[in-house]
Amino acid sequence: MDEALVAAVGSGRDLIVPDRHRAAAVRLAWARLKLAEGRSVWSTPQIHTWDAWLTRQWREAALRGAVPQVQLLDTSQERALWEAVLAGLAEEGEDEASLTQHATALMQAAARATQSGIDPARLAVNREERLLAAALEAVRRECRQRGLLSLRLARADELGFLAQVRAPRIVGAQRLTALQEQLAGRCWPGESLLLAPPAAELPPPTRRLRAADLQHELAACARWCRSHVERDPGARLLVLSACTEPSLSIQGALLWNALAAGTDADEAARARWLAVEGGEPLLHQALAADALALLELAVADTAETAALLALLRSPYLGLLPDGARLRLADWIGEQGLARWPRNGLVQALHAHAGREEAAGVLAGWLAQAGAALDGRPRRGTTEWARQFTAVLDAAGFARGRPLDSREEQRRERWHALLDEFAGLDAVLPPLTASAALARLRRLARQARHQAATGDAAITLSASLADPVVRYDGIWVLGLAEARWPAAPRPDAWVALAEQRRARWPEAGAAERREQAAWALSRWQACCGELVLSFPAREDDVLHRPPALAGNIDAWVDCDAVEMPVLAGCSRPAGDQHLEPVAVASPGVTLKGGATLLATQQACPFRAQAQWRLGADPPAGLSEGVPAFVRGRLMHLLLQHLWERLGGQAGLLALDAAGETALVEECWRRAVEATPAARWLPTTVLERERQRTHQTVKSVLQLERERPPFTVEQRERALHWQGAGARLALRIDRIDRVGGDALLIDYKSGQPTRIDLHEQSLQPLQLAVYAAALAQQGQPVSAAALLNLHPHEACFAGVAAREGILEEGLERLEDWDGTQRRWQEQLVALMQQHLSGEATLTVDRRACERCHLPALCRRAGEDAVEEAGD
Ligand code: SF4
Repeated sequence: MDEALVAAVGSGRDLIVPDRHRAAAVRLAWARLKLAEGRSVWSTPQIHTWDAWLTRQWREAALRGAVPQVQLLDTSQERALWEAVLAGLAEEGEDEASLTQHATALMQAAARATQSGIDPARLAVNREERLLAAALEAVRRECRQRGLLSLRLARADELGFLAQVRAPRIVGAQRLTALQEQLAGRCWPGESLLLAPPAAELPPPTRRLRAADLQHELAACARWCRSHVERDPGARLLVLSACTEPSLSIQGALLWNALAAGTDADEAARARWLAVEGGEPLLHQALAADALALLELAVADTAETAALLALLRSPYLGLLPDGARLRLADWIGEQGLARWPRNGLVQALHAHAGREEAAGVLAGWLAQAGAALDGRPRRGTTEWARQFTAVLDAAGFARGRPLDSREEQRRERWHALLDEFAGLDAVLPPLTASAALARLRRLARQARHQAATGDAAITLSASLADPVVRYDGIWVLGLAEARWPAAPRPDAWVALAEQRRARWPEAGAAERREQAAWALSRWQACCGELVLSFPAREDDVLHRPPALAGNIDAWVDCDAVEMPVLAGCSRPAGDQHLEPVAVASPGVTLKGGATLLATQQACPFRAQAQWRLGADPPAGLSEGVPAFVRGRLMHLLLQHLWERLGGQAGLLALDAAGETALVEECWRRAVEATPAARWLPTTVLERERQRTHQTVKSVLQLERERPPFTVEQRERALHWQGAGARLALRIDRIDRVGGDALLIDYKSGQPTRIDLHEQSLQPLQLAVYAAALAQQGQPVSAAALLNLHPHEACFAGVAAREGILEEGLERLEDWDGTQRRWQEQLVALMQQHLSGEATLTVDRRACERCHLPALCRRAGEDAVEEAGD
């Protein structure tokens, strides 16, 4: 800290800084100073932003009775008031909702204009300028009539109570605002408010660097930071970034990645090394997002499955034990519905409660919360805040486990948000539950939160203004000509002439240039070493160095740096090997059935990840009928149908009306036995009924034209054994055709290619079913898929001889030998699986529908290959 700043803080006077980050920086610098003096206790310096300082002074004055009895508006209340006012100012052809979207911008413009001594009505010409003038007048009128006060809109004569307090010192500002000058004259004559720190006598050593791109720039910066901190662990460095893309938090992650490259630094080390300023909207933080999602689940008539699954996987949902809520999430995902009607969800959960107690608990909470948040009566926001808290508490939200310090801070922020929301009573009429929740969500989107960090060695900031405190070194990233000085960007709501008169930096090119030159002088004054850098290229954009920061020849290329490997791509795709599975004779039954071997055949890596490590595909949610419901309905219907018909003779005996009635009856039985079908909307289920009837009609036509047959077995359960393990299987149907057994597997979707006659196990399930039956002493003479197509049902498979079906079967010369080879191939696949082999597939077609490219890192490898191409 320079001497003037130390004197200002040491004098005990309130210090006003441009933002809360600079306030934290001054407090930390003050603490370092006191520690260096050997002190262990010292008074907390009073450091505030202008708005926070004004609010504090007004509250203290209110306690002394020195100000009128009015209600002070906080930012949320003021925004709500602006929204209400704007809605009433919509002109013909203007949309109220789109006007209210500008409330925040108008509110800020009004505050800034007031503090700059601008009367928005004076030169207002266009619609935007006139709107601000009208809205400001209306807001002031509302405040007068309702006994409200916005300090941001207060003029010097309304702030006369400040004469009773000591003059603050303002630091980090280029000049005082008009309001501050007026207050200085009225309240603190002769006092100098602005603390103008001395300029650097000699500019610090300054390097100007050109990097190939942002990644190289960050890597060079990381190397510079590291060498400073390794040389002097007490060094404090400031990295300023002029880049707006990617976000500052991503730049922080990249910088940390480069800083930590080649070390085993963990998150705790990161907190000591690097602090990133800014914070994120509260809504983007899991605790607040999950709280809102839980409340929305309680209020909404329809539950989105994706949101429900995310909630059940939330670590903050303390209502259910961890294992139970994850199992419940899996079960809900398996039902395949993209959304649930509220009643359907409660019914389904109750129905599942017999198998999973947690389902009943969730159903009970849903019913209770739904009643508590009944949307019909309108209530004030204070009452809604109370109800929301009660509903969250009933769900054990954020109470199921101890929270770490950052989570605690988020919970505190969430409660502060609820208080803010409750305060809206002052300006809003009573609301319905869903309107109240929408308002709370909007507040969470607008509120920013950053967990407090300690005194990190490096601070990354997006503020190119005065650093206020001194650093050992400052590095300014991304300082390309295109963005520094920044382009003029006048405020659309205030007349340009007024902005120029008030010297707003964004009003014009000259103002921007003056702002940038001032910032440069402050960087130079606040550090022992200054580095300015810019990336020569960003995507397709080529950059030049900024003219303001020195001659073009002064810029040199960054030293070549070894690029750190980016997080997420740190290891290329490669074959893996897991521990072998221990199996004991007579064999363990593995999960997955025939699909396990089919996956091992398609990609050993995927099979190990999915069936041994549990990397299941995400739930396939459907807007219509989920695939598993469709498959189950069709299987059950065909099962009931052949149970009644017995075979082709029974089918041929049916007339058209009899067939329709039988199919209808079997459909009803299938629906009754499929709980998930009952939760489908009626219209969707009806469409599915018609589609299924059409498919069954097509299948029965095919069955009529076959050689005579009887259906011997339906849904036959059995095991296949091999390599010491067992797989549980279920065969859809086995027909008897003359003296031959024909194995049939129902297949929905696109017809599958049959390669079993080409020495290839495709489709594998036919081979494994045939092999399993052979192991039971019940060999078949043919195996076929029955493609269930609504218009073109057909068989496809292989057979020992001609005549078992009219068409669709490929004849194999050596049926017994082929089956022995199938068994050998299946055993080899199982051995491979049990041995833990997890090589990546060589057939890239298998990757097209795989859910694991990020896990096996093939996605990264493909990206590299594409970049190479
Ligand atoms: S993406 Fe390809 S290589 Fe990777 S697991 Fe999936 S199928 Fe295997």
